Amino acid sequence: MINTEAIKKDLEQKLQELIEKADELESSLREPMSADSEEQATESEGDEVIESLEQTAFQEIDEIKAALKRVEDGSYGICTVCDEPIAEARLNAYPAAAVCMDCKSK
Ligand SMILES: [Zn+2]
Repeated sequence: MINTEAIKKDLEQKLQELIEKADELESSLREPMSADSEEQATESEGDEVIESLEQTAFQEIDEIKAALKRVEDGSYGICTVCDEPIAEARLNAYPAAAVCMDCKSK
């Protein structure tokens, strides 16, 4: 039996952390460019890295929100593809997992 209360807490905490992380990334993107053109080039390279980190964070936020919804409707821990239970070890390692190992590796 999966302890959904604990999972929910865990997911909510992770969600909060990711939202804060995304906020931080967003505000570092909004920092004004420096006047020095050489520095500008370095900064826009940095921006690309930040943008991709931000994308990853947004993706994780979506995954966690979806997982929380599944906790709410009681379908948490069930593979969204094949409807089989997801192995607990996988859920422990990755609580936002939406598909089982089999479906993921397909
Ligand atoms: Zn599956």
